[in-house]
Amino acid sequence: MSLPRFADVVVIGAGAVGAACAYFAAQAGLKVAVVERGPIAGGTSSACEGNLLVSDKEAGPELALAQYSQGLWRGELAEHGSLWEFESKGGVVVSAREGTQANLARLAQRQSAVGIDVELLDAAQLLALEPHVNPRMVGGAFYPQDAQVQPMLVTAHLLRLARGMGATVHTDTRVTGFTRAGDAVTGVQTSRGAISANAVVNAAGTWGGAIAELAGVNVPVHPRKGYVMVTEPLPMLVRHKVYAAEYVDNVASSDAGLQTSPVVEGTDGGTILIGSSRERVGFDKAVDPRVLSEMAGKAIALFPFLADVKALRSYFGFRPYCPDHLPVIGPDPRAPGLLHACGHEGAGIGLSVGTGALIAQSLTGAAAALDMAPFAPERFETLQEPAHA
Ligand SMILES: Cc1cc2nc3c(=O)[nH]c(=O)nc-3n(C[C@H](O)[C@H](O)[C@H](O)COP(=O)(O)OP(=O)(O)OC[C@H]3O[C@@H](n4cnc5c(N)ncnc54)[C@H](O)[C@@H]3O)c2cc1C
Repeated sequence: MSLPRFADVVVIGAGAVGAACAYFAAQAGLKVAVVERGPIAGGTSSACEGNLLVSDKEAGPELALAQYSQGLWRGELAEHGSLWEFESKGGVVVSAREGTQANLARLAQRQSAVGIDVELLDAAQLLALEPHVNPRMVGGAFYPQDAQVQPMLVTAHLLRLARGMGATVHTDTRVTGFTRAGDAVTGVQTSRGAISANAVVNAAGTWGGAIAELAGVNVPVHPRKGYVMVTEPLPMLVRHKVYAAEYVDNVASSDAGLQTSPVVEGTDGGTILIGSSRERVGFDKAVDPRVLSEMAGKAIALFPFLADVKALRSYFGFRPYCPDHLPVIGPDPRAPGLLHACGHEGAGIGLSVGTGALIAQSLTGAAAALDMAPFAPERFETLQEPAHA
């Protein structure tokens, strides 16, 4: 399809976040063009899992965005849920020690105070929910609001729905620069020609920093690598998303070194997905067996039956990580006409729809559903990055 010469909004990136921005902007009546250098969902949105989690987030702006997104997944988008295999499976967090359970109880209290449903579990209640979990675990917590989708289907179908409302999607189209009028962004230059636009949305995920640089602004998005292992198909032995309580600390850590914590979930197809790892090794595409072996060992400690199960394959992706672990969402005052919707780290599938709705509100001048200040693109001008960032 040839490129349009003009769009109200150009969205850069056809991952889950770009797709959600396109969907909500088209729904608001705007003429949208999505430009993607590769295929649809060719970035991190096809190298991840599709958990929509509230359980792993501390009370604060990210949790508020997750709650807003949950409302959209379960509300106005619910009619499309079967297209992207929405499953309200619930999350189970597991504690191996009494001290960990006490910390989990404090986290649950803070989350509950802002409206999260959570139920603390003793060892017997944990085993009733997950009969194959290691019986030495002391307890845990159940989060019924945690859910799951298939991320590539989310991306493809949100774009298809956006197309139905007039959006155009252009794959194999790399953004190489911006057209400007003074500081203002007036469109994009691409490998296939220019599109002028009233607004441009940077939804380039882990490459969002590079896009920002093309516009002469600093948005520090760095890759945080993570692997997923996939087992042979089995009967349903893991009923929820199950993870060790230490996972929450690893998510929040800014350490560049390797961190692994067990995250195990069954799928309808019978395979079991095993995570998780986090490390800051740039865009290194080498497979490190040490990481896989550490992940497997921790998963077996959580679910001993996994010791006898074959791993069929593994894959990895690069989470779009910002130094303060918050995404970058909203207009950039340093380059009027440019908006950012990137840097969602390990939660970009879950947070995609809330982000898309906030971007559409900003594009149309509607009141924002959330306080946007914590996500402001220019916040990094004063933020001290850690030395290793
Ligand atoms: C192992 C792992 C597990 C994860 N599990 C979960 C999970 O369970 N739940 C969850 O919510 N999140 C999870 N995540 C995080 C999630 O995958 C990301 O936050 C999310 O995919 C980011 O989506 P995005 O649309 O911003 O980026 P992407 O999907 O990467 O899309 C950005 C797009 O921009 C394109 N692009 C880049 N540069 C240009 C250019 N110059 N011109 C045109 N296009 C360009 C890229 O090709 C890419 O397609 C996980 C991540 C990993 C690695």
